[in-house]
Amino acid sequence: MDKQHDNLLVLDFDHTIFNTTKLVHALKKKFLEEFNINEETFTRHRNKIKEYNTVIDIKHFVSSFEEQDPALLFSTMHAIFKKCNEGYLFSDVLPFLERHKNNFDILISTHGDSELQTEKIIHSNLPSYVQHIISTKSKAEVLAPFVDMYTHIYLIEDKAKNIDDVKQKHPNVMTYFLKRPEDMPYGNIDSVCKCNDHTVENLSFTIT
Ligand SMILES: [Mg+2]
Repeated sequence: MDKQHDNLLVLDFDHTIFNTTKLVHALKKKFLEEFNINEETFTRHRNKIKEYNTVIDIKHFVSSFEEQDPALLFSTMHAIFKKCNEGYLFSDVLPFLERHKNNFDILISTHGDSELQTEKIIHSNLPSYVQHIISTKSKAEVLAPFVDMYTHIYLIEDKAKNIDDVKQKHPNVMTYFLKRPEDMPYGNIDSVCKCNDHTVENLSFTIT
């Protein structure tokens, strides 16, 4: 982590700054059009990978379709990922980053498979001052080394479970529970400890 400010702003990636629902939809559409793999099959295979691997990794996913050429599925997925710069970041993300870049170090912290998350992040064309960490560790573990490094840490996250975990282990981290009305896969699962400091619907706010 390249430290330039006293305050750290941490943003989750999927469903927080990136419309993952839209990406999954694009993948499903392409799989149906090109390989006649329907949505139900796509979802079943995706869930199966998630079950034994906790995160979706591309190689296991493409190999799980026995009657298909994995290399072809692989290149099709890559072609979709290359288009991640085409409207997948929510429209309030870049203005939000710009408003905060002079006062905060900005870090994207995302849970998942390194290859898959790297593809999405790299092709999103985020500004160069945004750093990122891809990890299969919990958010609380990822943030632990920064707690003593920074005066204030702010976390913006759409998954209540992560907010609760971070807040319990690092009570001083200020948390923003993001519930975007247009992309809320975990929307019905609320914070158990009710310990999120703020609930927001978008990134139109400014931290001062
Ligand atoms: Mg998320």
